[in-house]
Amino acid sequence: MSEQPIVLWLRRDLRLSDLPPLLAAEGRRVLVCFVVDPTLEASSGGRRLSFLYDSLRDVHDQLDGSLLVVRGVAEKVIPEIARAIDAEAVHISADYAPYGMRRDKKVRKALGDIPLCAEGSPYAVAPGRVLKGDGEPYRVFTPYFRRWREHGWRAPADTGVGSATWIDPNDVSGVRGIKIPKAKADLDLPAGERAAYERFADFIAADARDYSTHRDRPDLASTSRMSAYLKFGNIHPRALLAELEKHEGEGRAAYIRELAFRDFYADVLHQRPDSNWWNLNKKFDAMEHDSGDDADADFAAWREGRTGFPIVDAGMRQLRDSGFMHNRVRMIVGSFLVKDLHLPWQRGAGWFLDQLVDGDMASNQHGWQWVAGTGTDAAPYFRVFNPTTQGKKFDPSGDYVRRWVPELRGISGSAVHEPGALRPDDYPEPIVDHKQQRQVALDRYKALS
Ligand code: FAD
Repeated sequence: MSEQPIVLWLRRDLRLSDLPPLLAAEGRRVLVCFVVDPTLEASSGGRRLSFLYDSLRDVHDQLDGSLLVVRGVAEKVIPEIARAIDAEAVHISADYAPYGMRRDKKVRKALGDIPLCAEGSPYAVAPGRVLKGDGEPYRVFTPYFRRWREHGWRAPADTGVGSATWIDPNDVSGVRGIKIPKAKADLDLPAGERAAYERFADFIAADARDYSTHRDRPDLASTSRMSAYLKFGNIHPRALLAELEKHEGEGRAAYIRELAFRDFYADVLHQRPDSNWWNLNKKFDAMEHDSGDDADADFAAWREGRTGFPIVDAGMRQLRDSGFMHNRVRMIVGSFLVKDLHLPWQRGAGWFLDQLVDGDMASNQHGWQWVAGTGTDAAPYFRVFNPTTQGKKFDPSGDYVRRWVPELRGISGSAVHEPGALRPDDYPEPIVDHKQQRQVALDRYKALS
């Protein structure tokens, strides 16, 4: 076995168990590091940074302080760290997002003859692996899903705190570490590997069985809340899949399908990196959008949850106040922005990325493109959600709206979705007429064909 140490560079895999790049350690001396990248720091939003820093603290504590955290540009600091310990190689989990791929290319070049070894990815099946018979990527989810299941995934990797001899960063000269920052934003879920496993065990015990019937109900709050843990790699989807395989039922099958959606969107973004901010379907580039002061005022009302549509306002306030929003409500508020306010999906996606703890380029941008009808396998543009009937259907008790919109707490049951004469003075009138705006959206859509 080589005596030469290695560097383990953590990025979107902030955990120690089930970590393929750690398999290379096999009892060797390992320096674990994380680079706080000022570009990502500036674009991450306070709550996502809080989650990141708390996740780092969890790894740091598990290693009794042997996590080196540095601030800087990866292509500069990673070679410095590797050279400081005369590393044989730098090990990573592969990153498939456009920014991460560009960064890794630069780091590989800057490392020169020290290899950058990528093992594993943040997905059950890595982007680019699930292909049609002719070698082309899938553009539609259902056949992708079928093939994804046939492809299968690996069992969790057997790694943990005992996998290596950890190098104390204080013993490394020539590299300046920083104290893990303290972010100011509060989180509604604890971050980190240990919290992720606990949360998933609770979900399996309490809510997984009814997931297929309850997953669309924001009032029940019974989904797994694993998205932020998956985003930061506190847990890997294959660990969730391995646990799900021990159970039976429709809830399990529905959950596996959602994990496949996560892989699918990562795959699409990998094939089409321009789809992070551009329409996947170019036909929509000619779509007419509203702009100017009135459009800006509508956007502000949407962002702040003052549209006068209770389910939209509840969702937007949940996002602003907690950094999370239920999936069904993400679809409703997204449809409202694009088809009732006629604003480009990119404005909504940008706000989501700023606010969401789970904000993720692939799932967010393609979630928005699905809603806007511009993406792969999208909801047809002419299917326009009616926010009032959506609210009544998916929040039948009205509890979700009352939880996030305190002005409406005096209205009981599902009447809260259509307050009418019961509308209190401090809650706004609807900012648009849904029926009229639906027609405007359809007319603009027709003009494209
Ligand atoms: P659960 O229902 O418990 O699902 C389990 C896991 O499956 C999730 O944690 C997630 O990883 C995955 N998943 C579920 N639904 C989807 C989906 N539609 N697309 C992709 N993966 C899914 N998810 C993000 O992780 N980050 C985002 O930035 C993001 N932005 C979105 C924006 C819009 C407009 C829409 C419509 C959806 C977005 N989603 C995003 C997908 C989905 O809303 C969240 O993953 C889900 O609400 C997270 O809650 P949960 O973990 O309790 O989900």
